[in-house]
Amino acid sequence: MTQTHRIQVPTRGDTDVIDINDLVKSAVDEGRIRDGLVCVAVIGSTAAITTTEAEPGLLTHDLKAFYEKLAPADAYYQHEQTWHDDNGHAHVRASALGPSVTIPLIDGRLALGTWQQIVLIDFDTRARRREVVIQIVGE
Ligand code: ZN
Repeated sequence: MTQTHRIQVPTRGDTDVIDINDLVKSAVDEGRIRDGLVCVAVIGSTAAITTTEAEPGLLTHDLKAFYEKLAPADAYYQHEQTWHDDNGHAHVRASALGPSVTIPLIDGRLALGTWQQIVLIDFDTRARRREVVIQIVGE
């Protein structure tokens, strides 16, 4: 069996890290699938999905500082010559991280640690409304 949920998540952009763990849990709880895989994917090439501990230090500072080192916002990006925009770093950061995670679902529960939450990171340079697809495959 497969169940697909689409949720809208407003973001502030600029490497905004948003805890979406409860939204994913709600989608799982709505359905009847108890064992399988839960794929959580964001639509778009300037956002990403990963897991982290959802505490303020990581969410508001540490991850942002890491991605600023990885792909500085003020570096040169050929992408910005192509489209005359300002988000080359956002594309590079999103590509490095990837658009999805897949989490095992075991007996109705996501196989995540106590200090491990699913987060959406929006790297774009403006506020966005992101579509996140949660697809549950199993029985
Ligand atoms: Zn762009």
